[in-house]
Amino acid sequence: MLFSKLLLPTLKDAPKEAEVISHKLMLRAGMVRKVASGIYTWLPLGLKVLRKIENIVREEMDASGAQEVLMPMVQPKELWNETNRWEKMGPELLRIKDRHERDFCLGPTHEEVITDLIRNNVKSYKELPLNIYQIQTKFRDEVRPRYGVMRGREFLMKDSYSFNIDEACLQSTYLTMRNTYKNILERIGLDYKIVAADSGAIGGDTSEEFHVLAETGEDTIAISSESEFAINTELLLKEGEDISSLEGKPSPDGKGTIQIKKGIEVGHIFQLGKVYAEDMKANVLNNEGKASTLHMGCYGVGVSRLVAAAIEQNNDDKGIIWPHSISPFDINIIAIGYEKDQQIAEASIKLYKDLQEMGYEVLLDDRKDGYGTKMKDSELIGIPLNIVIGKQYIETNEVELKSRSGDSSLNDISNLKTILDFFK
Ligand code: ATP
Ligand code: MG
Repeated sequence: MLFSKLLLPTLKDAPKEAEVISHKLMLRAGMVRKVASGIYTWLPLGLKVLRKIENIVREEMDASGAQEVLMPMVQPKELWNETNRWEKMGPELLRIKDRHERDFCLGPTHEEVITDLIRNNVKSYKELPLNIYQIQTKFRDEVRPRYGVMRGREFLMKDSYSFNIDEACLQSTYLTMRNTYKNILERIGLDYKIVAADSGAIGGDTSEEFHVLAETGEDTIAISSESEFAINTELLLKEGEDISSLEGKPSPDGKGTIQIKKGIEVGHIFQLGKVYAEDMKANVLNNEGKASTLHMGCYGVGVSRLVAAAIEQNNDDKGIIWPHSISPFDINIIAIGYEKDQQIAEASIKLYKDLQEMGYEVLLDDRKDGYGTKMKDSELIGIPLNIVIGKQYIETNEVELKSRSGDSSLNDISNLKTILDFFK
C-alpha cells in the first residue's frame, strides 16, 4: 500500500474524550472514528488489525474442531420469551419493532438462536458433541460505553456454543475451549491470566474469564504470586469476602501470596449445563433411545476489545508497538526524496515489490514529507520494521533498518536476508 493513498487520518493530539491510552492511540493512529456513543467506524488500518485477530481466532477455533456459522443480528422476541430473558435482560437489550409492530431485539448474545437451531436439526446423541461458533457484531446498550472500542455498544465477538450429551462430555469440550483460548492469546502475544468468574446474565454453573493484565482494566482480580490461582473480586464480593484483607495474604491454595491486579476481560467461558436446554426443550435421543436434555457450554472472545487490550499492553510515548502477529503491516519503507529523486523512487518501488513477493505486507511512504514526520507517523501506527531509503542509498547502496523497538543498523539494499532475519 502506498502511504499517500491510504485513508489514514493521524492526529497529533488525542481528543479530550479519550481517557485511556488505547483509545487515544486508536484515534491518533487513524484506526477508528466515533459515529455515536459506543459505536465506531473501523478505518483501513484499524480494520487490518481487527481482521488479523479475527483470523487467529478463526484458525484456532477451526483447529479445535468447532464449526463456523453466521446467525442473524436481529432476533425475534418469541425466542427470548422461551428463556424469560426478554424480561430479565433489562435495558441492555435493544428492543425494536418491525413495520408490522412485531418485536425484535439486536442480539447481545445468541444462546436462544443457536439452541433453536440445534433442537430443530439434531436428533441423536450420535451427532454430538457439536461446537458451533460465529464471529459477528453484537449490540448491548451498555449503561456506560467508554474507553473507545474497549466497552462499545456495538462490538465484534466470537461466540461459540457447545452441545453435549452429558456433563463429562461438556467438561471435555470446555477444556478444549480453555486451551483454544490460551493458544489464541499466546499467538497474539499478550500477557494474560485465567480467572474464576461470576456467570452474570448468561447464567450456568462454572465460568472462567481470560484477562489481559493492564492498569486500565475495569476488573479487579486477585492472583497468587506463585500459582495459577486467580479470581475476579466481583465473585468474592458476591460471596461476602473482604477484598482489602486479601492483599499480601497467603493464597487460598497455599502457594504464594495474593496480589491485586487490574484486568481487561477479553474472553469468558461457561459451563451452562442444562439451563437453556431445559427452558427451550432441546433434547436428543440417548443410547437407550430416550429423550435426553442437552448439556451446553458457551464461550466468548471480545475480538474488537482485543485490539484495544493489545495496545494497552504494547505502547510507549511515541505510539503503538504492535506484536508482529497482529501488526497492520510488517514493514514500512520510508523513502526520503521519493518525489524528487528517480533513483530513490525506483529503488523503493523495487524493494516494495520484492518484499511483497516474499510474502510481507508492506507500506511505502511515498509522501513529500521528511524523515522526521515519516518516522513519527510510523512509530505512532506501530509498524515493527522500517527501511529508510535516502541519501545514504545514493552514496553507498545502503538502507537503514530501524525496528519499532529502536534497534537500528545500516545494510546493503541487496541484502534482504537481514530483513528476513528480523522477523525470526
Ligand atoms: P463485561 O463484564 O466486560 O461487561 P461481559 O461479561 O458482559 O463483559 P460476556 O457476555 O462474557 O461479556 O461476553 C464475551 C466477551 O465479549 C467478553 O469477554 C468481552 O471480551 C466482550 N465484550 C463484552 N461486552 C463488550 C463491550 N461492551 N464492548 C466490547 N467487548 C465486549
Ligand atoms: Mg463476561
